[in-house]
Amino acid sequence: MNTFKITLLRGDGIGPEIVAQAIKVLDKAGKRFDFTPQYTEALMGGCAIDETGVPLPQETIDKCLASDAVLLGAVGGWKWDNLPGNLRPEAGLLGIRGALKLFANLRPAKIYGPLKGACPLRPDIIGDSMDIMVVRELTGGIYFGKRGRETVDGVEAAYDTEYYTTTEVERIARVAFESARKRGGKLCNVDKANVLESSRLWRETVLRVAADYPDVQLSHLYIDNAAMQLVRNPKQFDVILASNIFGDILSDEASQVAGSIGMLASASLGNGKLGLYEPIHGSAPDIAGKNIANPLATILSVSMMLRYSFDEIAAADTIEAAVEKVLENGLRTPDIYTDGCKKIGTVEMGDAVTAAL
Ligand code: NAD
Repeated sequence: MNTFKITLLRGDGIGPEIVAQAIKVLDKAGKRFDFTPQYTEALMGGCAIDETGVPLPQETIDKCLASDAVLLGAVGGWKWDNLPGNLRPEAGLLGIRGALKLFANLRPAKIYGPLKGACPLRPDIIGDSMDIMVVRELTGGIYFGKRGRETVDGVEAAYDTEYYTTTEVERIARVAFESARKRGGKLCNVDKANVLESSRLWRETVLRVAADYPDVQLSHLYIDNAAMQLVRNPKQFDVILASNIFGDILSDEASQVAGSIGMLASASLGNGKLGLYEPIHGSAPDIAGKNIANPLATILSVSMMLRYSFDEIAAADTIEAAVEKVLENGLRTPDIYTDGCKKIGTVEMGDAVTAAL
């Protein structure tokens, strides 16, 4: 029987509540599919500041590096909002991604049939369903390029540099092609190769990598057109590949198209199998401790963990099917509640998915 070492970063606000539900689901999946999750607790965010004075203690980094996967709830809250930037809970997020060398961010944006009403687009635009995966480069590009301020002829100016090496592009392109291969076999590369030199290098590199994936159907869109197509005809997309800044924008747009923030999971991956899995939402301090947070994004993050870090594909599929079944049965946390459904709490939703497994 396989044993998987998982570091839990429960974090702040609703973090501990939603992670507790995901653990229940993972434990049940382990029993059913014959693997053992082994948990280690570590501190990150506001709770780490309270205990140790910093948002990301070295001990947390060491524990994460020694594990097979990391599950993060969410960090942050009003209590720590006035601290300087590098000491705020959110500094832990950038720090842990860097420390674990996680360069690929995978964000599925999926509309579940029973939640179609939450999609802001017209029903004829989304059709029966929408299921997109945005693969975003996470550690390069303009967010990490040369930046500065200068005064030119008495006028203040500032610059940030979009900079990519072929090595950086190739490794994220491979993640996107592999993802497309496991899904619908279609990859849309997004860039601005009509204007930017960095985008031309990006596209040349993607085309070179494509030679190793003849089974994947590759297309290209400029970022402005991609942003438009995402609301005009989202069904055309399977996997979208984009740089750090373009992926940042498109993944948020795609998540809005998908509807509720409480439903969306994410994975951050590096070269090996170690990954960081987390819901895309924050710590929601406004609803913390009330047993009303939606735990499904975190439960779906666990399903991504099984798929990408542990190769437990059947278990991952079964968790996703269990979530769908619970929704089909009309069970809803308040954020996704509509008339005619049954409103339940965080713990009850965790129990319902566990029971449906
Ligand atoms: P948020 O995502 O926490 O909340 C936005 C809104 O969505 C709130 O009304 C909240 O109640 C609701 N919401 C979020 N998750 C929900 C869930 N699972 N179920 C039901 N409703 C949910 O964003 P925010 O309010 O801008 O930020 C709150 C704190 O979280 C801040 O300190 C912010 O810096 C931090 N944050 C952390 C992360 C992270 O840990 N990855 C991400 C974003 C924001």
